[in-house]
Amino acid sequence: MTTIVVLVEQSQGNVRRASLEALGAAKSSGARVVAVVALVDGSESAAPTLAKHGADRVVVLKGDGRSSPDRSAHDIAAVVREEGAKACLAAASSNGKQLMPRIAAELDSTVFSDCTGLDLSGATPKAVRPWLAGKLIATLESNAPVFCATLRPNTFAPRAAPAAGELVTKPSSAVLKALVASIDAKGGGKLDVKEAPVVISGGRGMKGPEHFALLDELAAAFGNAAVGASRAVVDAGWRPHSEQVGQTGKTVSPQLYVAVGISGAIQHLAGMRTSKVIVAINKDADAPIFKVADYGIVGDAFEVVPALTAAVKAVRSQR
Ligand SMILES: Cc1cc2nc3c(=O)[nH]c(=O)nc-3n(C[C@H](O)[C@H](O)[C@H](O)COP(=O)(O)OP(=O)(O)OC[C@H]3O[C@@H](n4cnc5c(N)ncnc54)[C@H](O)[C@@H]3O)c2cc1C
Repeated sequence: MTTIVVLVEQSQGNVRRASLEALGAAKSSGARVVAVVALVDGSESAAPTLAKHGADRVVVLKGDGRSSPDRSAHDIAAVVREEGAKACLAAASSNGKQLMPRIAAELDSTVFSDCTGLDLSGATPKAVRPWLAGKLIATLESNAPVFCATLRPNTFAPRAAPAAGELVTKPSSAVLKALVASIDAKGGGKLDVKEAPVVISGGRGMKGPEHFALLDELAAAFGNAAVGASRAVVDAGWRPHSEQVGQTGKTVSPQLYVAVGISGAIQHLAGMRTSKVIVAINKDADAPIFKVADYGIVGDAFEVVPALTAAVKAVRSQR
């Protein structure tokens, strides 16, 4: 049986959903799955959750409290070698994106980044990923010794797949080429646009930062939504860069993406066109965003958004 190693991330003591999705993708291939909890000091408390989602083995790397991407990558690559894994997967999160190239370099391999599809069943792994700002969807075959890939959040489903979850604790190595001295976290505690199942994004059509309260209210009505923004809005200083969706921002793939007062420039589409359902609200019927929208509302955001918020609240109150 082949083995796949999955890098697991935690946030505030909980396993991140994007990591459970990566576990689900690994488990779907029928492989034996080894979950590695590695960043800074991994926690054993993740083990029961990981076992429920398909981890046959959970390797927790215990460090000395200091964070080093080089050390994490070195230690995860060592687990891949020890387990004889044919693949190593992680979420295409900030951590996944910075660690996987290092892991691949350690394994003399290459990286398939931000994948939206995988086929690990055959002798030659295949990855599907958008190219050229989402204009092309490429299917790539791997001839690398170990298939290393990051997976776009919200693209693969977590699986309820009870497994042994055998817990193994290992000390981290002494590799410390780069050391993270401190982290200044902004927007802590907020749902990240990359992982939220619903994203409500605002553009220049919102007219000013004060009007984003309307989008915050709509997001709160959904209950599981994050607020995103176009680059024009971020450049104007209305919203933080952490919320920017697009080519030079974040790539999102939620169940529902609502674009409010966003024209639909190609650089914005690059970050959201793989969303499952796209709703556009724009007062210009010719706005390019309508070309990718599943549902379009031609109207003034300042009338449509409050009405939508009231409708969402009404539906949810009936549940
Ligand atoms: C190298 C490069 C990288 C870039 N990266 C990104 C990126 O990552 N993300 C990104 O978003 N952009 C990016 N851009 C910028 C992009 O080209 C656009 O300039 C930007 O997306 C436009 O933002 P917008 O849609 O908010 O504003 P606009 O293009 O000004 O559109 C505003 C829209 O609001 C509508 N509107 C106005 N009033 C209302 C109202 N009352 N109700 C409803 N609708 C209304 C208008 O009809 C219009 O369609 C990049 C550009 C370059 C060159």
